[in-house]
Amino acid sequence: MVNGKIALVTGATSGIGLAIAQRLAAEGADIVMHGRSADPLAMRDLCRGLSAREGITCAYIAADLSIPEEADRLAREAATALGPIDILVNNAGMQHVAPLEAFPPEKWDQIISLNLSAAFHLTRVVFAGMKARQWGRIINIASAHSLVASPYKSAYVASKHGLLGLTKVAALEGAEAGVTVNAICPGYVLTPLVQKQIPDTAKARGITEAQVVRDVLLAAQPTKKFATVEEVAALTAFLCTPGAQSITGAALPVDGGWTAH
Ligand code: NAD
Repeated sequence: MVNGKIALVTGATSGIGLAIAQRLAAEGADIVMHGRSADPLAMRDLCRGLSAREGITCAYIAADLSIPEEADRLAREAATALGPIDILVNNAGMQHVAPLEAFPPEKWDQIISLNLSAAFHLTRVVFAGMKARQWGRIINIASAHSLVASPYKSAYVASKHGLLGLTKVAALEGAEAGVTVNAICPGYVLTPLVQKQIPDTAKARGITEAQVVRDVLLAAQPTKKFATVEEVAALTAFLCTPGAQSITGAALPVDGGWTAH
């Protein structure tokens, strides 16, 4: 379905981003894998594996997307490496869990920069080309926390609500030019990002890690199951098909019913 298209996936070295890169490659897209990785050898191996398995071209670029200039550089180097970007998946993100009064201001700045501003910087660079070519797909990996809040996640919830706002504006601006922009809003998916917050949440709430999983993370998820990276990747791939061309500006939950509450 996406044969010959070029996709840039941020945060593609683990979790949801890796599953999306793998799925788009399996559908025939050439992939620019982005990672923060200080380990270029690991990224090279991931890329080689993907190329060999799917017969596509893969490039990898490291960048710290909490720095605006790095986001600009990534977008430009990606286009130089493989060609104009047709599909942009803004996936890289981070979390920090702490009560508001103890929330470190530098963490706030870092989370807003990575989870929200990086998507703006990357979109800004690729948008004109997508519009000129009359085809583009921008998929922002937002969160159920774009729609509802949880305590102790001030920066994350603010950044993800902001990302949904950016999604809607970009959707309106790209609509007549064949560029769709959507936000996928996963509930809890068991990836390193979630695994890392379990001990912090346990500390913030004074409960055990098992209680965090049962009573906090999955408490609001009616299926009582984590969503999977493959499910998020499948929706991303669908949004790139002709059947999805009228879906734009949408917030699409993959949350086991969480936001139906
Ligand atoms: P993950 O920790 O496995 O992946 C995060 C990715 O972001 C990694 O590739 C990491 O290298 C990259 N990254 C982190 N800091 C970076 C920086 N400064 N510069 C560049 N890249 C950086 O986590 P994940 O769960 O796969 O998260 C992917 C996205 O999905 C995030 O935006 C997250 O907010 C969102 N999300 C996750 C869940 C979940 O339950 N896991 C739920 C909703 C939304």
